[in-house]
Amino acid sequence: MAHETEEAKLSQQYDEITGAMTVPFRGEKRTLQEMWAYLQESNRGTRQEAWELSYNRALADQDKLDCLFESMFQCRKQMATNTGIKNYRDYAWRRLRRFDYTPDQCTTFHLAIESAILPVVCELQKQRLKQLCVDTLRPWDTEVDPNGHAPLRPFIGIPELVARTQRVFDRIDGELASGFQQLQDLRLMDLENRQNKAPGGYQVPLSESRMPFIFLNTVGVHMDVLTLFHEGGHAFHTLASQSQPLVSYRTSIPIEFCEVASMSMELIGSEHLSEFYSPADVRRARRAHFEAILTSFPWLATVDAFQHWIYMHPAHTRAERAEAWLALMNRLGGLVDWTGCERVRANLWHDVGHIFQCPFYFVEYGIACLGALQIWANWKRDPNGALAAYKRALALGGSRPLPVVRDELDELSA
Ligand SMILES: [Zn+2]
Repeated sequence: MAHETEEAKLSQQYDEITGAMTVPFRGEKRTLQEMWAYLQESNRGTRQEAWELSYNRALADQDKLDCLFESMFQCRKQMATNTGIKNYRDYAWRRLRRFDYTPDQCTTFHLAIESAILPVVCELQKQRLKQLCVDTLRPWDTEVDPNGHAPLRPFIGIPELVARTQRVFDRIDGELASGFQQLQDLRLMDLENRQNKAPGGYQVPLSESRMPFIFLNTVGVHMDVLTLFHEGGHAFHTLASQSQPLVSYRTSIPIEFCEVASMSMELIGSEHLSEFYSPADVRRARRAHFEAILTSFPWLATVDAFQHWIYMHPAHTRAERAEAWLALMNRLGGLVDWTGCERVRANLWHDVGHIFQCPFYFVEYGIACLGALQIWANWKRDPNGALAAYKRALALGGSRPLPVVRDELDELSA
């Protein structure tokens, strides 16, 4: 228990270090989340400037983050040793209650992503190169609209984001929509990005009231809309499983299914983006969304394989860890040209809060994404049937193991 307390304290330090990162840009002090929006600017010079400023700021804390990770790593090794489990990976597997798939199956998943999805991602990157009329794809070229359109600006201010999102959920389903309205009435959302606020976005169930709480860092970009759909999906899960009698049935739901609840809402919500955009912008946003989904698979394989490497090489040095990361970036990183940005590339994993704060929690997104794509496909064929199945599967909470929830969902939507 002492090690878990220490790990939780160290985890807070990650939020403190990354939450305090700001840069001066155009006369104002800005958070790195705010700077992310500039990577969508059509002017390449602006993007490069914003990218370099942000990552140089992050590099200034490189040593701090490496040291922090090493403390966490020692703490985790000790946790495994104390319980007599031979390595932290096996310990994490039990801690995450992964009874339905093995580490070897994760490795198979990485290989499948490498052979089936990575070539498509490389093809999309080649298209992007041509569209942008550039010789090489630099790290600051991946977020911009490839046809030179100005970035999508879906809302100005939180009230507009919330009102439009409410209308999207109204169009999807009356019951889900009233759940989202309840979050507003009870002030259960903190959505704006501000200095010294912890980064990231998540939904958390409040155990006393059994109500969801949504925490985000929105800055006015399209991703914020998708993230609110996503966390909305998690909130619907919390609301749907409210009446499960056992605490663990309400709070210990298989994460692989939790992310199906949220990612399905991203996909179904995106069918109603006309609440935010013109028809032409809806097409752009949809294409970018599917591109992002494809691109996310090689990234998640990289992050997941890296964590397997770290915890299966418990005596590794800092240099060996960087080498292992770079080997994975070479294998799964696509066509991005990192010349001159090697230090950033070697430390890119510092951006992934999960590696610090919830070890091994990442592959779930890939497993869940496949499930969400299936629900979305069902919804395209039969919206009412698919949503009824979705809601009934959500209501099961953690009362059934993952394969049973999946089978029920299949049956219900058949
Ligand atoms: Zn999520």
